[in-house]
Order: sequence, then structure tokens, then C-alpha cells
Amino acid sequence: MTDPKQPVKLLVLPGDGIGPEVVREVGRIIAWLEKNRGLTFELTEDLVGGASLAEYGVPIRDEVIEKAWAADAVLFGSVGDPKWGHVGFDKRPEVAILKLRQELGLFANLRPAKVFDALVDSSTLKPDVVRGLDIMIVRETVGGIYFGNPRGIETLPDGSKRGINTEVYTTSEIQRVARVAFDLARKRDNRVCSVEKCNVMESGLLWKEVVTDVHAREFADVELSHMLADNCAMQLVRNPRQFDVLVTGNLFGDILSDLASMLTGSLGMLPSATLGAEQADGRRPALYEPIHGSAPDIAGQGIANPIAQILSFAMLLRYSLNMQAEADMIEQAVSNVLASGLRTADIMAEGMARVGTSVMGEAIVRELDKLQAS
Ligand code: NAD
Repeated sequence: MTDPKQPVKLLVLPGDGIGPEVVREVGRIIAWLEKNRGLTFELTEDLVGGASLAEYGVPIRDEVIEKAWAADAVLFGSVGDPKWGHVGFDKRPEVAILKLRQELGLFANLRPAKVFDALVDSSTLKPDVVRGLDIMIVRETVGGIYFGNPRGIETLPDGSKRGINTEVYTTSEIQRVARVAFDLARKRDNRVCSVEKCNVMESGLLWKEVVTDVHAREFADVELSHMLADNCAMQLVRNPRQFDVLVTGNLFGDILSDLASMLTGSLGMLPSATLGAEQADGRRPALYEPIHGSAPDIAGQGIANPIAQILSFAMLLRYSLNMQAEADMIEQAVSNVLASGLRTADIMAEGMARVGTSVMGEAIVRELDKLQAS
């Protein structure tokens, strides 16, 4: 639990494109929290991505990684700039986020898929299927088939080729991500569904055994169920509201989290968190970012939707700082603003009022004022 009297140390990395535009709106919320909730934030800002390439010739400096370790949490915007499309893969702006995840050992990616009542018609699914949807997908991100060995493409004696990737999970890798999922469930509806393919994969069998064991030993109060990944994909479209927290490996999580996030309608609305291992001093490295990229097509126009970034900050308050009341307030403020009919271009609908990035940010702060007064 964070002591509210201690300043919260945040590393803020706005990045490229719309990143700085949407991160600026979080700045308003931070100022509001300082003024109205007695919190103090110690903010350190630095360059990553194309912005860092332009200044320092690298997508991220070691110094920034050190600052990330020293912070209570990292608030990340987005990286990517077509201007750097010609450089080698290891110099691309996107390396910044990959390196941060790797260096901080961020193994659990959390992606909520929540449908705000006012946006229920934005989903491609029927309103009745998604109304009230609020699920959290926990995806293991540093193991599994994307990293397992052997891997590669080999040439066979007859000249044809064979591509190989290997799904590998160890007990400890499964235990740590399972604990994240169970912990989260306790802050939500207390239900976890673990997803694998134990019917055809030994790694899935081990996954199921280890999750079951962690549950029995440490989290017996949480409701646990198991589901095969193919069935889960189907259930997410058929009846997504049956889920609370889903926990799964890297490959299935990649696919299922994209599927689930699109149930909600717009990229501009979706936050995420990536958590690392708890350290000896009780702190846990964590990075919060919207799932969208730098959107070069709309950058600099002041029309980007800041809500995904603002909701990423709400996740930071909830999961890194245990400030549940403030996180709830921000989510409620977003919900109220949408209900009042304000929309950025990406979520615009007939009869609504179209606004830009900063008007949306200001409106959310005004809602916070109202919530604080009520
Ligand atoms: P993108 O998410 O940047 O944009 C996809 C589409 O969604 C665009 O039309 C964009 O205008 C729109 N969009 C995205 N966010 C929006 C917002 N907040 N408000 C309104 N509209 C929004 O994906 P892309 O175009 O495939 O990628 C652009 C760059 O971002 C690439 O360089 C890519 O590598 C990078 N990227 C970075 C991250 C990251 O930093 N974690 C994630 C994804 C993509």
C-alpha cells in the first residue's frame, strides 16, 4: 500500500506521434489529484522512440531504464514514427518499448475489455451481448512459443524446409502469472478462468496443473475454472460477460486479448498494464500504456482520443499504488463524460458532440470536480 504522504515517483515517457498529446491530458488529472486528493507526484519525463533517436541516436538510453527501475511506475505514451522506417530493426523507435519490457522483466500483460454504457453501440457485436462487459485478460509475455527453443527454419535432405517453434513453460513461469491473475480477481469479481489446450499440448497440461496447485495453496477463496483456448475464443464472441479474469500463455493471450479488446469498439479507449516480479523491497516494476500506437495519420491535429491513456493512468493508480478510490473516480468521470454526449472523432456517433483531445481531457477533469463535490 502506498503511503499517500510520500510523493509518488512516476517516469513519464510520452514518445512519438499522438503520445505526447494524450499524455498531456493525464497531466491535467495528476494536477487535479494533487489539488483535490492530497497526493504528491514526483514526475520525471524523458524521451523514447523516434524522439530519442532524433536527440540521442538510440530509441532508448540505459539511463531511461535505470529511471524506470527507480520509479514507482512508468506511464508510457506510444512510439513509432514513419520517419524512421528506413533504419535497421534494432534502431527502430518500437525497440524502446520492447527493451523496457525485457529489461524490467515485465511478464504479465493486463488488458481490460470494458464496455461503457454510452458506447455500447460502437461494438460490432449486438448491444445485448456486450452491455456491461468488464473482463481482464492476463497474458504471459516473456515465455511460451515466441521465445522457446529449438526454433528456426531448417532445410531437409530433399531440399524442402521445416519451420520450428517450441512452446515451453516452466513451473515458476506459470506460477508467477497465475498469482497476478488471482490477485487481480480479488480486486474484481473474484473469478479466474485459466485457458490452455491441455487436450493436445503437454505444456497446456502443465499449465493447468500448476494453476490448479497455486489456486489450492494460495487462493482457494477465488473461483477457478479452466477452458480450452479454442472454446474460449468462441465464448468471447458468444457470451463474453461470463468472464471476469482470464489467464493464459503468450500465444493464446496475444490472440484472445486482441479479440476481447475489439468487443469494445475503439482503439482509442483501451488501456493496458504490464507487470514484473515483486522485488525484495515489495515494489513491482510496472508499465502502463494505451494499446494503440502513435497514430501518425492524426498526430499533431489535436483530435486523438486521450481516454485510453487516461484509463492507463487509472490502472496505474489501481495496480501500482493501490489507490482504488481515485482509479474508480477517473473511470466514473470518463463514463459520465461519454454519457453526456462528448465524443472524439474515433468514437463519434450521430447526435453526439465532436470534441478534440484537450476538450475531452478538460471535460473529464470537470467531471472529477463534480464527483468530488457529491
Ligand atoms: P495505431 O494504433 O497507431 O493506429 C491505428 C489507427 O487507429 C489509426 O487510424 C489511428 O489514427 C487510430 N487511432 C489510434 N489511436 C487513436 C486514438 N487515441 N484516438 C483516435 N484514433 C486513434 O497503429 P498503427 O497505425 O498500426 O501504428 C502506428 C505506429 O505506432 C507504428 O510505428 C507502430 O509500430 C506503432 N505502435 C506502437 C505501439 C506502442 O507504442 N506500444 C503499439 C502499436 C503500434
